[in-house]
Amino acid sequence: MKILKFHAAIAAVALATIAPAVSAAPAAGDAPITETDLASHIKTLASDAFEGRAPGTEGEDRTIAYVVGEWAKAGLEAVPGSTTPWLQGVPLVETTGTGGTATFRVNGQNVTLGDDSITLTGRDPSVSLANLPVVFVGYGLDGKGKVNADVTGKLAVMLFDNAPFGEKLPRYRERRQMLAEAGAAGVLVIATDAVPWTQLRASAGSKATRLASAKPGAPVTGFLSAEAADVLFGKAGQDGAALRKAAEAANYKGTALSVTADIQTTSIVRPFESNNIIAKLPGARPDGKAVLFLGHWDHLGICAPDDPKDRICNGAVDNASGIAVLIEVAKRLASGTRPDRDIYFMATTAEEKGLLGAHYFAANPVVPLADITVALNIDTIAISPRGTPVATIGRGKPAYDAVVRDVATKLGRKLDEDGEADAFVQRQDGWALGAKGVTSLMVGGSFSDMPLLEKFLESDYHGPADEFSDKVPLGGAAEDADLHVALGRAFADTKRWPGK
Ligand SMILES: [Zn+2]
Repeated sequence: MKILKFHAAIAAVALATIAPAVSAAPAAGDAPITETDLASHIKTLASDAFEGRAPGTEGEDRTIAYVVGEWAKAGLEAVPGSTTPWLQGVPLVETTGTGGTATFRVNGQNVTLGDDSITLTGRDPSVSLANLPVVFVGYGLDGKGKVNADVTGKLAVMLFDNAPFGEKLPRYRERRQMLAEAGAAGVLVIATDAVPWTQLRASAGSKATRLASAKPGAPVTGFLSAEAADVLFGKAGQDGAALRKAAEAANYKGTALSVTADIQTTSIVRPFESNNIIAKLPGARPDGKAVLFLGHWDHLGICAPDDPKDRICNGAVDNASGIAVLIEVAKRLASGTRPDRDIYFMATTAEEKGLLGAHYFAANPVVPLADITVALNIDTIAISPRGTPVATIGRGKPAYDAVVRDVATKLGRKLDEDGEADAFVQRQDGWALGAKGVTSLMVGGSFSDMPLLEKFLESDYHGPADEFSDKVPLGGAAEDADLHVALGRAFADTKRWPGK
């Protein structure tokens, strides 16, 4: 009911704000985007009223109303022919573990791992598995990207971190899914040193969300703290450090542990629909090619329900900052000289659950993917001060790199082309489009100064402390926002950019 009323509200906003299609204003240049412009959006989107913007919550409704309202005011339009104006419904299935026990046995003896050191999620409302053989699979894949061990009917224990071998092997979610498709009865992921266990527990917890259209995962999935994994290995007569070392080889075949597991879980399985927000700025001289700006609107919601001080992961930097930039970039591009090509703006859902909104769009694009000449993703942009060099995730196509270099240089920006930023290529929505052949770039200063970025990732990131305050650095974000206006103009210019 709420949603129906809400769509009517959106339609009303849209009708009330139909903007003139083409501005008659001369090309007077775009007014700079300021820290103040960005701050007001971030403050709203990351306020407690938005409850951390979790998909399928009132926080989503508020976010949609705000972003659609701002884009409509800017002069963007709903994509013609969309069943729900401004929105692309993304069917999801959320599984919430309500109880789970894992009992490990070595030579008939029970091994207890503290309840706090393991999380379990059953795929179905009730799962009961007995006597599962346990196999440590390292990264789960070999150097060629194939599942490396026989996991049929077994509990596979896999490392979270990216494999040190093989070019661009997938991250743990995809590897876990591949083990499931290879027949694993369960997959336990050993936590990484890079993310504190309490944080991983809080963000992954016992909840899992997937696209309704996705293949189901293993009957049971979960996470195991690194310490608990070492205890388990030790009880099985293995040395954790030696196993991890062995797993670094590209031809590692896994190690069967002399351990069995009994696992019971109960879960609530909830199908629901979330939304990508999509808008269009029609080009003045469209040639069938399009530019796509995107950034994720979602965050982790009420991530610490038991914390009396702060229950909400507000996601100010991640990624209210990116949405703020998308709003201001839309305003500049819609109000200045109208670009030749169509420009699409998309705020994706469920990025935090594994780029789900972006994957859904890539499978169900509202504009043919082949027509998207470039996708520019904006994520976690409020990190660096003014003057930070411009790094690009997804570099490597010389013609594109030249446009970025040229546009950035004209704005007085320095370039950072050491390639370090590419470590994040799989951790952002552009990856989902890149996997389908769309050239996807993430351009800006926040992925240039690695110590600054890492400082954020190791502190406020994905926790209740990622909230708006005047301590959030917006200088670099404002500069990057201007850069995106200029990039949008360059890639949408039919004379300047061929569009291939
Ligand atoms: Zn995030």
